[in-house]
Amino acid sequence: VKGIVFSGSGLDRAAHRRRDAAWLRERLADDATRVLPFWRLAPLVRTGDAPRLAWATPALLEGREEAPAPVFLGVAGGIAHFAADLSDRPEPLAEFGFDGVAHFPDLRAIAGLLPPDEAAIAAQARHVVDWHARHGFCPGCGERTHVQDGGWSRRCASCSTEHFPRTDPVVIMLVLDGERCLLGRQPAWPRPFFSALAGFVEGGETLEEAVVREVAEEAGVVVSDVRYLASQPWPFPASLMLGCTARAATREIVVDRSELEEADWFTKDEVRAALAAPTPRLAVPPPMAIAHHLIRAWVEGDSSAA
Ligand SMILES: [Zn+2]
Repeated sequence: VKGIVFSGSGLDRAAHRRRDAAWLRERLADDATRVLPFWRLAPLVRTGDAPRLAWATPALLEGREEAPAPVFLGVAGGIAHFAADLSDRPEPLAEFGFDGVAHFPDLRAIAGLLPPDEAAIAAQARHVVDWHARHGFCPGCGERTHVQDGGWSRRCASCSTEHFPRTDPVVIMLVLDGERCLLGRQPAWPRPFFSALAGFVEGGETLEEAVVREVAEEAGVVVSDVRYLASQPWPFPASLMLGCTARAATREIVVDRSELEEADWFTKDEVRAALAAPTPRLAVPPPMAIAHHLIRAWVEGDSSAA
């Protein structure tokens, strides 16, 4: 499956450098180093018809010793890349001279317009910047935690426990019944928007078990033959979408109204038409969502379970 938004970063994460404090210090003293500013979880993006990430130099970090430490993202072309959270500043565009040339758009709104490799870098950065913003205190003892390893872990000042950025797996599955697929809609979604069913993987559960449980809970349909197809980082705030297909063993739908407003079977012809343009009965997710790719793979006959 190609064209998954937030995949395909050109950065080498160079994880072996994260514990090399001297190397990180040198990179942050090098004007060639690139720093991606974030403000309230939004990346700095150049304004204009072709949006691109707006990289700053490490000069941005001068006098910010008390601010959140920059996160080392990786290396490309011999140049180190970092992310820096400017959320403590009330007017960063004016303060740092970005007014008129760049802005802080919501990543979800801008991701599809960025070059794919840049959207992937922004996803990596948003995921970790957000984690730091919410993990200043140890969940074990309540004391302060401090950034270490170039921003890839935190250590409690009191009990020394190390904490790492978490990733939350979510299964998203296209349930197939021959030439039909099962789609659902949440109450908040505009009509006639439907998508693949999805839910968080729980503790002590395999990916396959999560698919079976979620489809049974949300739509009352029994499925088997779960196949993994593709994944997508989804940094809102920390998910990894695991795209699957599953084969329906039962057809009757019993919707859990606390999760979905409606679920129904749609034929391949209906779905094919909706992929081209929304129909009165069905609109499907845009290419930004992995659900779009699951649906398209099935319609185009690439799906392993089709
Ligand atoms: Zn602690």
